[in-house]
Amino acid sequence: MESLSSAQHRLVAQMPRIADFEWVPVREAAGRYLAVDVVAEQDVPSAPVSLFDGYALHAPAAVDWVADVAGTTFAGEPAGQLPNQQVVWRIFTGAPLPVGANAVVAQESTVSAEQGQIVLKEAMKPGAGVRPQGADSQRGARVLAAGHRLDAAALALLTSVGRASVPVVRRPRVAVFTTGDELVEPGQPLPPGKIYDANHPLLSVSLARLGAEVVDLGVLPDDLAAIKSALIEQAGRVDLLLTSGGVSVGDADLVRAAVSELGSIDAWRVFLKPGKPLAYGRVGQTPFIGLPGNPVSTFVTFQLFVRPALRAIQGADAGLDSPVIRLPLATDYVAGDRPEFIRVRRVLSPSGETALEIFPNQNSGLLSSLAWADGVALVPPDQRLSAGSPVDYFPFDGWFS
Ligand code: AMP
Ligand code: MG
Repeated sequence: MESLSSAQHRLVAQMPRIADFEWVPVREAAGRYLAVDVVAEQDVPSAPVSLFDGYALHAPAAVDWVADVAGTTFAGEPAGQLPNQQVVWRIFTGAPLPVGANAVVAQESTVSAEQGQIVLKEAMKPGAGVRPQGADSQRGARVLAAGHRLDAAALALLTSVGRASVPVVRRPRVAVFTTGDELVEPGQPLPPGKIYDANHPLLSVSLARLGAEVVDLGVLPDDLAAIKSALIEQAGRVDLLLTSGGVSVGDADLVRAAVSELGSIDAWRVFLKPGKPLAYGRVGQTPFIGLPGNPVSTFVTFQLFVRPALRAIQGADAGLDSPVIRLPLATDYVAGDRPEFIRVRRVLSPSGETALEIFPNQNSGLLSSLAWADGVALVPPDQRLSAGSPVDYFPFDGWFS
């Protein structure tokens, strides 16, 4: 069996990259991936500016120096000019330094003297109190590289260098279908032996949260011909074919059979619980990922494999990082023989420390456990963990970022 990180790296390495890009306004680019490097077209700031409200001057200047105030510059005004080095210039945060000045003394480090004069209460060195030209971004230098995921900070930076729109990778299109003769769509009556198709919202909402365009193929029966025709129809039109169910080794596990007849398939045995059966393949040039059908397994394997795959498809510069926090378990846990993601939620102990409460039944069919949890914890195999043992915690919040 293969380790989780090896399987993740192998999957990410096999994902084709989307070559198409589109220009979108910066305000609409959140969550998208930069298609090309962005270079600053001018220095930011474009001139030396004051770090605070105070007085611009020519340093060095000694303590107790008494100087006339020769003029004033507010933020947003053009720079003034020091008439000589014996005077200071009233200046406000963000305003450009007057020509001839090289430092700013904070207002609090001065006292007013005679009309229009101040006294320095601090010795000044050149450069003090000044944000130099180009301190944030330099003209001609790369501010963000292709593959950078555009979050609020990145969009603020792009705006600061004058970009109003940016080239981003086209959104990935993902065809999704769930499989199983037992599945019934919500809103329909439930005949004996059937269950509602819970994986559908699990997958389509998770995909939408990651910025993918979902091509929804509904529920397919356990029927080889029907599964094959859905796959053939979408291959070449989408960037990823995604299914749930039908990938273990039971008689009705026809998704694997369909993909292998149409293209190539590789059944992965990941050393992990849940997530041992996972199918990866291709139909033509289109990658295929087959997730297990048990809803908790579907969800966890989606986050562990589909999320990094979608990032890779969009040319992301960082593939596998999951936010991990080390937190102690609130109760004992006896681990199984594989690394296991268990459903947990954060609780405050009486002493005010955060610990992880464990859902009492870790069966991977229980959606109630997933809704109860606010994350999962990775428990190493073959261990008897006592309350207080630290484990890696993966908050669901982070999984959706
Ligand atoms: P499978 O991987 O097809 O063998 O399915 C494993 C288990 O997950 C079975 O109990 C299925 O009934 C259940 N299951 C499969 N697909 C779904 C779905 N879309 N919604 C809810 N449960 C499902
Ligand atoms: Mg099935």
